[in-house]
Amino acid sequence: MKEKNKDLMEKIVSLCKRRGFVFQGSEIYGGLSGTYDWGHHGLALKNNVRQYWWKKFVDGRKDMYGIDAAILMNARVWEASGHVAGFSDSMEDGKQFNVMFKTEIGAGEEAATVYLRPETAQGMFVNFKNIVDAFHPKLPFGMAQIGKAFRNEIAPRDFIFRQREFEQMEIEYFIRPADWEKYFEYWKDEMLDWMEEIGLDMNKVHELEVPDAERAHYSKRTIDFEFDFPFGRKELFGLAYRTDFDLNIHNLEYIDEEEGEKMVPHVVEPSMGVDRAVLSLLLSVYTEDKKGGETRVYLKFKPNIAPVICAVSPLLKNKPELVEYANTKVYAPLKEKFGRVAWDDNGNIGKRYRRQDEIGTPFCIVVDFDTLTDNTVTVRDRDSGEQERVKVEDLKNYIKDRI
Ligand code: ATP
Repeated sequence: MKEKNKDLMEKIVSLCKRRGFVFQGSEIYGGLSGTYDWGHHGLALKNNVRQYWWKKFVDGRKDMYGIDAAILMNARVWEASGHVAGFSDSMEDGKQFNVMFKTEIGAGEEAATVYLRPETAQGMFVNFKNIVDAFHPKLPFGMAQIGKAFRNEIAPRDFIFRQREFEQMEIEYFIRPADWEKYFEYWKDEMLDWMEEIGLDMNKVHELEVPDAERAHYSKRTIDFEFDFPFGRKELFGLAYRTDFDLNIHNLEYIDEEEGEKMVPHVVEPSMGVDRAVLSLLLSVYTEDKKGGETRVYLKFKPNIAPVICAVSPLLKNKPELVEYANTKVYAPLKEKFGRVAWDDNGNIGKRYRRQDEIGTPFCIVVDFDTLTDNTVTVRDRDSGEQERVKVEDLKNYIKDRI
């Protein structure tokens, strides 16, 4: 079983490289541990994950305010939050080691120490007053941010699971203290819904009630959503009740304008890693089956989240009439409509299907000699491998109906 899991992880890492999803950072110089570079398809997938999140939790609501705070923040933020004193990992020999990346801002004697943010959360708390003053939101309301975070992890490992530079999608949801249990449950369900919507294998997702002794100092209740990764059941996302800890340490408060009441709101925080979302998604959709006696690999993405929605091919790339037709009458209009459309004329059709299967492209469209006379194309379904003839004029709707 263990071997099989290790094997699966190796297959995913190698597929990601082969098909242009994710590469080791600084690879041609021997790599830089804990960093990864995203290629065309991985980036498209990551963008889709982010967009799904933003659409559901920001654009889809009227009580959420987006923010994009600076990565470099005044060191006093991290002193106040407790990160300077206590954001540490234990070294093997028991020595505590602060995992924040330190750098300098300014030159010479004037230079001051700053930290690359180890979480996006504080970028929201320090903007609490700005959001309240600009938008006058009523409780409950939230702030949402997607952005990079940096941790000098002692042992980065397991591909994009534990990196030194990664990305978070976080919400700070401000509530009245008495409502925390209600909103904790509410956000738990919202997170689960989102995971299901992007296509995670929900049989592999588990909730872990984090015991008192293991919770962060600011949290009164935390649930980790864990995922059955090939290297073990590990934290995917977290949900924490942060009480009024953060607003208090930054001396921030809220005035209910109608009631004339001054108070410090409490916070429920759904915290999700973009990279772990992508990795768990890849593991959820990775499928092998047998086609024509051969093992084929495909990524069973939901069409909406797939990096490529459809690929267009002329049957033969040395027949100008096929290429011209495929390019102008099929590829160009689909590209304009759906954006994530690939042109693929490399190798024979079987090779192209195998390549697109590994990218997870739901539909492969082939222009052949019949197309030139009857204006129909072959559309091949990724999962079943079945093909049907579709009129070129119906292609946009055919795909729209299926995504
Ligand atoms: P872990 O226990 O795995 O170190 P954590 O509890 O420190 O994670 P949080 O501080 O709760 O993580 O960060 C929120 C989310 O950010 C995590 O649930 C995870 O999805 C993501 N995350 C945290 N650290 C990393 C990392 N080093 N690489 C990739 N994603 C990460």
